[in-house]
Amino acid sequence: MTKPSPVSRRKFLSAALAGSAATLAGAAAPQSSPAEWTPERTQAALRSATGTSLVLLGTGAGPVEGRPRHMTSHVLVSNGAAYVVDCGLGVTAQLARTGIPFSAVRSIFITHHHPDHNVEYGPFLLLRWAKGITHAPSAYGPPPLIQMTRDYLRSVDATIRFWSEDFEYPPLKVDDVHEVTGSGPVMKDENLRVTSALVQHPPVRPAFGYRFDFADRSIAFSGDTVPVEAMARLARGADVLVHEAIDMAVMDRMERLNADPTQYKINMHHMRADHSPIEDVGRIAQQAGVKTLVLSHLAPSIGIPDETWRAAAAKHFTGDIIVGHDLMVI
Ligand SMILES: [Zn+2]
Ligand SMILES: [Zn+2]
Repeated sequence: MTKPSPVSRRKFLSAALAGSAATLAGAAAPQSSPAEWTPERTQAALRSATGTSLVLLGTGAGPVEGRPRHMTSHVLVSNGAAYVVDCGLGVTAQLARTGIPFSAVRSIFITHHHPDHNVEYGPFLLLRWAKGITHAPSAYGPPPLIQMTRDYLRSVDATIRFWSEDFEYPPLKVDDVHEVTGSGPVMKDENLRVTSALVQHPPVRPAFGYRFDFADRSIAFSGDTVPVEAMARLARGADVLVHEAIDMAVMDRMERLNADPTQYKINMHHMRADHSPIEDVGRIAQQAGVKTLVLSHLAPSIGIPDETWRAAAAKHFTGDIIVGHDLMVI
């Protein structure tokens, strides 16, 4: 391929900065309609839901703020209890938009220690406590989650003391923290059973996918990973698989043009070694035999029409495909 001329490079660059990655992809399809999941719609969907619901709080990949797709977080609601999966920036505000009471959050699960998955873990605990909900949720994630929790609490010790004195709450204590070190059972309560699988996301070790088995529904999450058999095994027969996806061709073109609409340096070596090309995500879902594949943690997080994502995943997957948008209820 010839090097783009300065003029075309500039044109590409401005298109990319305007958020039109589809231009880079050469996609002829129209842009997907803007996300229609308003807080009102989300709240109405949750009110009328029967059984376990999955809400996508943040569906964008990478530590990029201020985009229509927030950083990664999801919440599962069952029988009045809520379980948060990952705490990217925005988890607190997005949860508030769903109308799910903060007091309903019983457990938090972190897939791996990248900022787009854990940056708001500590602040979420602090802000929930600041509302007067003094019993902290339990937390599960790879080491060093226990040390991270302690260190965070130490860093906000003065804040906790001032607030505690002002509002007469007992100080925030988070002592139900568990480190997940390998594949296998993670926890269970009266609503669900949680199982982990080791995935591949170097140099982050360990990084996990999780499966949540409720009485009425099973939902698996890949976290961040290259396509791995372990994820297909974990998700086998599940109702829903929430899997990360990357459009490698578009990211590749963005890197070469240095047209960086995601505002951080695209490193294709990282993208190839650590993430799942969309076509392979379809293959994993087919292998797992899940009913529904939900694409979340999308890279790039803007500019690719839903139809393009869906068509690529459908090359190898014959089940239902949902392209994730923030605040969507599934
Ligand atoms: Zn990520
Ligand atoms: Zn990651």
